Amino acid sequence: MIYLDNAATTSLDTEVLNEMLPYLQTEYGNPQSQHAAGRLAAQGLISARDRVAKVFGCRAEEVYFMSGGTEAGNFAVKGVCAAKKRGHLIISAIEHPAVLKSAQQMEGLGFEVTYVQPDKNGIIPPEEVEKAVRPDTVFCAVMAANNEIGTIQKVEKISEICTRYGIFYYCDCVQSVGVVPFPTSASAFAVSAHKFHGPKGVAAMYISGGSRISPLICGGMQERGLRGGTVNVASAVGLAAALERAAQGKNNTYIASLRNRFVGRVLAEIEGTALNGDPVLRVPSNANISFEGCDGANILMCLDLRDICVSTGSACSAGAVTPSHVISAIAGEERAKSAVRFTFGKYNTPEEVDRAVDVLKQIVSQTRRDKSGLD
Ligand code: PLP
Repeated sequence: MIYLDNAATTSLDTEVLNEMLPYLQTEYGNPQSQHAAGRLAAQGLISARDRVAKVFGCRAEEVYFMSGGTEAGNFAVKGVCAAKKRGHLIISAIEHPAVLKSAQQMEGLGFEVTYVQPDKNGIIPPEEVEKAVRPDTVFCAVMAANNEIGTIQKVEKISEICTRYGIFYYCDCVQSVGVVPFPTSASAFAVSAHKFHGPKGVAAMYISGGSRISPLICGGMQERGLRGGTVNVASAVGLAAALERAAQGKNNTYIASLRNRFVGRVLAEIEGTALNGDPVLRVPSNANISFEGCDGANILMCLDLRDICVSTGSACSAGAVTPSHVISAIAGEERAKSAVRFTFGKYNTPEEVDRAVDVLKQIVSQTRRDKSGLD
């Protein structure tokens, strides 16, 4: 199998697993328990939090563990709205659904939302964010790197605008680890371990001390009362171990070389192809390409039959396929329908890239032949 879907998830690194195992097998206590087993688990959790804080560049008390990037996005939007009770939100139109759908839910509760559109390369202009600011704006979300097109946003500038107007700024950093420096000038940001060779189902979120945010999940007083539920110590340890490795960005040059080889060959050897997103301001792993006259979902299926894993940004609900909201926003629905996302990782090889291009060439020309036969 050739796995070119590293933005969806990644394999768990063995060294990360080895660090987690003791907390699944021997040091399995509840970190809140007042006995030796609990203290051992609590030590593991303290150390994981310290390690994450060091990488983030913040204080340990500002790190919160939770179930994933989806929970972090929900928590940021709904937690701030619950604390503020009313007001206006600024949300980039190309956020992950965790943020977009949370904002839509808040609209239903009486909050007003301005959705800021990207330019044709998928960049959210900071000046458009500033133009959207109102006296009652309480929250802003613009992600560091987009999950579909990999475009890197002007996070520092947006952070500076939000600080100036006293707006809570949430920056989704799920796709930017090791590429974009952590924006500690934001009010909050989050990473999800399974995107960088850590375990699934765990995220770490930075929330600046003194922020006004209410818990999304209530329960015990875990995570300083902001996130109820027994902390998954093994996963927190795994996240810390994977984050330390990924944040160094040591594989970026190699991953970019694979991506560039792929994009270079596809654009040169397959007619009617276009790269979606900014050609330069993008994460090294991402290639999102539209194939004129083809259906992205069909290419995905044909590649899958040939043992190559990729993705489209399309959402499937009630049997209908909705093209990606991100590519629709930057290049229109037609381009979105024919888009396929290829995301490379440290375990991919140049041979895999070449094989993927060769298979893709066959699939695209067959699809176009079939289509012209039907027309
Ligand atoms: N935010 C972004 C940018 C993502 O790419 C993802 C996952 O695809 C998420 C949030 C959700 O993260 P998780 O899978 O940990 O819930």
